[in-house]
Amino acid sequence: MVTATDTAPLCGAHLNAGIRRYGAIPANNEYHSETGLRTLLSFIARETVKYDRGIEPLFCYAKEHYVRAHFRLVNSATAADKTVARIGYILQCTRCPGRIEQAGLIPKTVHCDECGADMKPIGPLWLGEIQNRDVISAMKNVLGSMKLNTVHRLSLLLDLIGDELPTSSHCDYHALSKVARISPRPLSEVIAILRERGYHASRAHYSGTALKTDAPAGVIIRVLKEKTEFCEGEVSMYKGKKELED
Ligand SMILES: [Zn+2]
Repeated sequence: MVTATDTAPLCGAHLNAGIRRYGAIPANNEYHSETGLRTLLSFIARETVKYDRGIEPLFCYAKEHYVRAHFRLVNSATAADKTVARIGYILQCTRCPGRIEQAGLIPKTVHCDECGADMKPIGPLWLGEIQNRDVISAMKNVLGSMKLNTVHRLSLLLDLIGDELPTSSHCDYHALSKVARISPRPLSEVIAILRERGYHASRAHYSGTALKTDAPAGVIIRVLKEKTEFCEGEVSMYKGKKELED
């Protein structure tokens, strides 16, 4: 397990410190909690593969002022090669919310599919899954029998992480609503509608307004604008998230 409490360098608030300590170019943007966690994993990976060892993330999360990665070490050059293959970049459009993930140690120059502007690399960071779903399920199973004051908070965290998509960034649905000049509808409704329409969608464990989805920004904004009934599930989920943050 590795915990980093220097979230300002990891999340781009202290850019030069991030470059010095983690050998990466972070970004202080709306999804910096996610990229901070993945930048730490990428750093751990690069330090580990030197010794012909690989890593397999098990349970990784960002919370308050720290990020924590639980992972398994695997002793073999093959595992190290697999680990290197998971390193890459997010290329963030400099003009619009558009972004893509790109594997590889050196970012390739591309332009935004949505607007044609330059895309700025963030990383190197870990791409893809950062949880082991079997480990999360096993933790949820034993949690009920444990006498801890934090059982409720841990249960919420595990539920959110167990449901979370492995994408390397999210969009803030309040920010998108602001761009579209509309009042944001409940996030649970947005997620349910996107899933009905064949997209993947979930919350992110570190922010109550984070939406992870493979739906394009235009589709999300259309869903945000549609009128539907209020979804009661939103109240309990949002309250739960606030409790988690307290
Ligand atoms: Zn763009």
